[in-house]
Amino acid sequence: MKIVALRTHLLEHRLAVPFESASMRFDRRAHVLVEIECDDGTTGWGECLGPARANAAVVAAYAPWLIGADPLETEKIWARLYNALRDQGQRGLTLTALSGIDIALWDIKGKHFGVPVSTLLGGRFREQVQAYATGSFKREGVDRVADNAEEAARYRQQGFHATKVKIGFGVDQDLAVVRAVREAIGPDMRLMVDANHGYDVVEAVTFGRRAADYGIDWFEEPVVPEQLDAYRAVRSGQPIPVAGGETWHSRWGMKEPVETRAVDILQPDLCGVGGFSEARRVADMAALHGVRVVPHVWGTAVQIAAALQFMAAMVPSPVRVDPIEPILEFDRTENPFRQAVIKTAIEHERGVVRIPNGPGLGIEVDRDALVAFRMRDD
Ligand code: CA
Repeated sequence: MKIVALRTHLLEHRLAVPFESASMRFDRRAHVLVEIECDDGTTGWGECLGPARANAAVVAAYAPWLIGADPLETEKIWARLYNALRDQGQRGLTLTALSGIDIALWDIKGKHFGVPVSTLLGGRFREQVQAYATGSFKREGVDRVADNAEEAARYRQQGFHATKVKIGFGVDQDLAVVRAVREAIGPDMRLMVDANHGYDVVEAVTFGRRAADYGIDWFEEPVVPEQLDAYRAVRSGQPIPVAGGETWHSRWGMKEPVETRAVDILQPDLCGVGGFSEARRVADMAALHGVRVVPHVWGTAVQIAAALQFMAAMVPSPVRVDPIEPILEFDRTENPFRQAVIKTAIEHERGVVRIPNGPGLGIEVDRDALVAFRMRDD
């Protein structure tokens, strides 16, 4: 079995209402899928986290080391591709691009053996996961406090047991949001906050001390990801568990945050950390150090499917009768790619998502949708 073609598919959707996190304004959703084709006709699909065109360029740069390889040799290919760009790579786009390729290879391997990726990873500990609703961005032209509270109340009505709101815009306004959201959802629904590294240490510590009374499960990306000292200062300076990791890539990128306990909860992204091959090593490293893993998810149905396969195979830590279960990040913003790119949509039912059990990622990509959402050149 040989790889004969490597393709990328650029997708774009312009939003009806733009929205903002603390660090980025979104007026469109743009994503890139990776397709690998083999000489027996098998195709595999992957996705890269981050800027679509830049990722597509780096994916293409890996082609000389990929074409002609045996797709079942995922570990050999990972090592060869990483080494090919290592001297100028190591982090960032070289890893997000490699992630998309690795995911597509595992999809091929699952299809070849007729089993889901989760089975290849060692077996399915669970057939479904609770999902948490990610939304509550700052939307243009509306009162953020009332808007976020109303949105969170809607997630509660839809059956979600947890939701995450965006902060990092200013401590006082963020506290007003958290207060209003907690009132809107009641005391039992889990609530997380995500600053998208919009705070400095003083702001993060001040926010955390004052917000803790509202029952916050975790405080995500309080400060910029390069400043691990700042992460540790936030962690020791306020009581809410600190989460982060969506921008840390590979086992080497995760080593210091894990070993020095910069976070309580590590959030590797399958489409950024290095695909299934590397996420597995990172999860093992986190388990060694007693750091909880909750994968980050922000993309199309391909990314959601990859995260679900990985989560199915996550070993409970600690193992006990009623274990701590992983929770799926489920983006609720305007994003047609959650459903449109595959033939059978991955949906939640009262906040619970079933994990596909077909071969590979367990999904079938809809090529008509790839054409319909193809990115324009402007
Ligand atoms: Ca985040």
